[in-house]
Amino acid sequence: MSEINELYQDLILDHTKKPRNFEVLEGASRHVEGYNPLCGDRYTIYVRMEGDVIRDVSFQGSGCAISKSSASMMTTIVKGKTKCEAEAIFENFHKMITGQSGVDKNKIGKLEVFHGVSEFPVRVKCASLAWHTLKAALGGEEKTITTE
Ligand code: ZN
Repeated sequence: MSEINELYQDLILDHTKKPRNFEVLEGASRHVEGYNPLCGDRYTIYVRMEGDVIRDVSFQGSGCAISKSSASMMTTIVKGKTKCEAEAIFENFHKMITGQSGVDKNKIGKLEVFHGVSEFPVRVKCASLAWHTLKAALGGEEKTITTE
């Protein structure tokens, strides 16, 4: 457990205890459910689009600390961003947590705290669940997204 605990840094703990934008979004233009059967994480991501801009975003559901804090942090980061900007952030975040090179740190920002996830392959799905779900919502998909 000790290595896993190293993942739970202050910012992650803070977002786990006090998840941001943790509510059903009134007037959401889209919502998609994401499920990670490996861990049992299940969230619904709500977005309100204004043209190509994510005007508002929220989430609901339950799961482990990594998945919840990742979803919470995601909502604070993508609010006000365009679809393209959000996808670029996810692309770099995904590269980082899967241990690939060529990560643009400017795009990662605070998400850097999830860097250690790359050492725990099982946790990659927890950390990326909300992002995969958001991407599906931005792409107009309405079905449940699973990490399998
Ligand atoms: Zn999980």
